[in-house]
Amino acid sequence: MAHQLSQFSSILRENESLAPFTWLQIGGPTRFLVEPNTVDEASEVLSVCHQQSIPVRLLGGGSNVLVREAGFAGATMLLSGPGFSHISQSGTLLTCGAGAKLSHVVGHAVGLGLGGLEHLIAIPGTVGGAVRGNSGSDEGDISQSIHSAKILSKDGQIRTVTRNEMAFTHRASGLDGVALIEVTFSLMESDPEVLTKRQQTFWILKRRAQPSFPERAALAFVDPVGHKAAELIHQAGMLGTVEGAVRMSTSYPNYLIASSGATSGQVLTLLDRVKQGVHDRSGVQLQQYLQIW
Ligand SMILES: Cc1cc2nc3c(=O)[nH]c(=O)nc-3n(C[C@H](O)[C@H](O)[C@H](O)COP(=O)(O)OP(=O)(O)OC[C@H]3O[C@@H](n4cnc5c(N)ncnc54)[C@H](O)[C@@H]3O)c2cc1C
Repeated sequence: MAHQLSQFSSILRENESLAPFTWLQIGGPTRFLVEPNTVDEASEVLSVCHQQSIPVRLLGGGSNVLVREAGFAGATMLLSGPGFSHISQSGTLLTCGAGAKLSHVVGHAVGLGLGGLEHLIAIPGTVGGAVRGNSGSDEGDISQSIHSAKILSKDGQIRTVTRNEMAFTHRASGLDGVALIEVTFSLMESDPEVLTKRQQTFWILKRRAQPSFPERAALAFVDPVGHKAAELIHQAGMLGTVEGAVRMSTSYPNYLIASSGATSGQVLTLLDRVKQGVHDRSGVQLQQYLQIW
């Protein structure tokens, strides 16, 4: 199979550890790591992988992924090149590559006097990862500002989908199994000074409420309808729970922190223990937000 992908040798690495590409810095290698430079290249890679039955996963900033020690026996695609981080404006529409950092896009929109994304300023990762997980804050989800997206299907076919064709729910997009290539946001014309102040406020509040780099952290659970996962964890007495070299943060509820020697097994056991503790205390079943590879 490797020789079929060998035509992409300039953008392909084999048996590359995924740990350095994730916030938790845990996990084994991917069989292939591909970094296409253009949409056409990404499409060709997907097409070859499809023909050869090689599974493909997209990786953005790695802030919501836990890779198991066994790694991933397929191709991991990173949209890290300049071909996937462009940002352009047309009236109140802002179009950006799925590999663009979400914080850059928010800052850019604010500078242009386009409002609607400021509340997302301190969420780590890329636009692609945020749209795939319908990331958001207490102010709302990213899906509320989406106009349309360009996606590549598993076999490399490109198409544009409108917001109504996507199946957004809380922290989910229904976009599983496709590669987001480009996203267009529909924003509101606003005063850049007012937007800048809003952005700064969100930045300060959020940074106080979340661990920051170089902490090896992950947001553990989705807020269940009518509840806050952080409060449920606190009420269940699970803050500070330790499993090997991984612990539930006491300073930042609903975040887990990995330290030297942490394994994916320890993270999974900790998540199960917290789920069980919360269920025993409140009867609520937590769903993890972290994507397990
Ligand atoms: C400190 C910290 C704070 C956080 N705060 C928040 C918060 O306030 N709100 C919130 O919702 N989340 C939060 N998160 C979780 C995480 O940052 C978000 O889910 C983020 O949007 C993930 O983006 P990413 O690029 O890192 O995605 P990744 O972790 O790389 O990937 C996440 C998922 O998206 C898929 N994916 C990535 N790129 C693409 C693409 N181009 N096409 C298709 N699929 C793709 C991956 O396959 C994977 O399934 C936080 C995480 C941390 C560590």
